[in-house]
Amino acid sequence: MDLNTIKQVTRPKTRGELGSWRDGDAFLAGGTWLFSEPQPKLTRLVDLSLLGWEPLTASADGLEIAATCTVAQLDALTPPVEWTAAPLIGQCCRAFLASFKIWNAATVGGNICMSLPAGPMISLTAALDGEALLWAPDGTERRATIVDFVKGPLSNALKSGELMRSILLPAAALTARTAFRQVSLANHGRSGALVIGTLSGNGAFALTITASTPRPVRLAFDALPSIDELHARIEETVDAWYDDIHGLPAWRRHMTLHFAQEIVSELGEGAR
Ligand SMILES: Cc1cc2nc3c(=O)[nH]c(=O)nc-3n(C[C@H](O)[C@H](O)[C@H](O)COP(=O)(O)OP(=O)(O)OC[C@H]3O[C@@H](n4cnc5c(N)ncnc54)[C@H](O)[C@@H]3O)c2cc1C
Repeated sequence: MDLNTIKQVTRPKTRGELGSWRDGDAFLAGGTWLFSEPQPKLTRLVDLSLLGWEPLTASADGLEIAATCTVAQLDALTPPVEWTAAPLIGQCCRAFLASFKIWNAATVGGNICMSLPAGPMISLTAALDGEALLWAPDGTERRATIVDFVKGPLSNALKSGELMRSILLPAAALTARTAFRQVSLANHGRSGALVIGTLSGNGAFALTITASTPRPVRLAFDALPSIDELHARIEETVDAWYDDIHGLPAWRRHMTLHFAQEIVSELGEGAR
């Protein structure tokens, strides 16, 4: 839709051209959410599309994903064979309630900065120990894990004028074994629960719960826990199950506990 309060769109090509931040500004990435509803408080958009950031950089450190990398570009990645966790990329891209038009425009950074419970790029990067690089308007930068970055629905750790530059998925996380479970109330509906298990080479296990909780929940264990132990930890850690039109809290809790059980069985089978 037309945003009829916007008076200016800037198109910086370098960090220096980002300029100073003022009330009414918003970064424009793919625009799939920004242009989907009225934005009466916004007067200026800072378009990130000309910054020319390399979408994906694979190295010995892991995978650096530019915030402006689109979902389609991420899905098209050909990962190194040793990245056993790579199937999660396609699984999370397909957890989007979206057509190819959205895939080609929506960015990884935009999805994380929206901070919706059903943000599949949040699920992916939280499960793989992702760490965001954030640029402040004063030229400084800082890093935040995705689990800490997302605070709740439409709420995150970004300070005024701060820009997400990239997300690093460390090599150690990319070589884990993984198990993925996702459910929606309706075919192609927004995720009601999305749960990912990772089992590292040293035997450490982590369960990352998204979509069923208002913010990502990551539970870490030195070794694969028993199902009872895992269920007990979920019940004691999750203080709220998300409630919206895409699913009731009781159903989300039930599906999360069920998926946790399946994930422990699946990763336990492989370990034997
Ligand atoms: C048909 C449809 C289906 C959708 N399905 C889903 C879904 O299943 N799950 C889901 O989570 N969302 C969904 N969305 C919402 C939204 O489109 C996605 O979250 C999308 O990933 C947003 O990315 P974008 O690049 O288009 O962001 P934009 O719309 O450009 O921006 C979104 C917000 O993030 C800010 N932002 C963007 N990039 C940065 C950055 N690098 N640094 C700081 N702030 C930034 C913007 O200022 C804005 O506030 C859907 C939308 C549509 C229209």
